[in-house]
Amino acid sequence: MIKARTTSVDETRSLAAELAPLAKPGDLMLLAGDLGAGKTAFVQGFARGLGIVEPVTSPAFVLARGYEGRLPLLHLDVYRLEHLQELHDLGISELLDDGAVTVIEWGDVVASALPADFLEVRMSPGDGDDERELSFRWVGSSWPNRVAGLRRAIAAWAVAGDGPGAVGDRD
Ligand code: ADP
Ligand code: MG
Repeated sequence: MIKARTTSVDETRSLAAELAPLAKPGDLMLLAGDLGAGKTAFVQGFARGLGIVEPVTSPAFVLARGYEGRLPLLHLDVYRLEHLQELHDLGISELLDDGAVTVIEWGDVVASALPADFLEVRMSPGDGDDERELSFRWVGSSWPNRVAGLRRAIAAWAVAGDGPGAVGDRD
């Protein structure tokens, strides 16, 4: 696990933008954290990093929105999802195979319906109003060989004490 801290919404967007060059076709990223944690802000920055100029808004009422950038971005918010079946109806597996990068707000909640190969970014409030703690955790084979790049990308916001031997690095 890797930890970071941001102190403004713009910092969260910048951190996410720095991650975009690491993204590969078919990637899955799950964003975890309560309402207002900054998940949509993260996607906005990530989209900017992919060269997407179209404004990214919360897809809460449409479930999924697609954007064209260096890689296509598929942005989902499953907060209002009532049944996992809706994810299947959307063709989530096909979408993941399609070469886009898929980022799912509240994705941790539906992880059981998704491939066990993703980067999870968990966001939580920090001490101050504009502070957020971000923790990165990876499952499956797609991300372990990008961990060094991930650390470099977020170095400016890294939380001290999180060395290379941190627990969770093996998973
Ligand atoms: P979510 O999608 O998790 O519900 P949003 O990204 O829509 O959250 O909203 C996050 C809110 O928190 C925004 O109003 C944003 O301006 C504010 N905010 C304050 N500090 C931060 C920060 N460090 N990172 C992200 N958002 C922040
Ligand atoms: Mg949101």
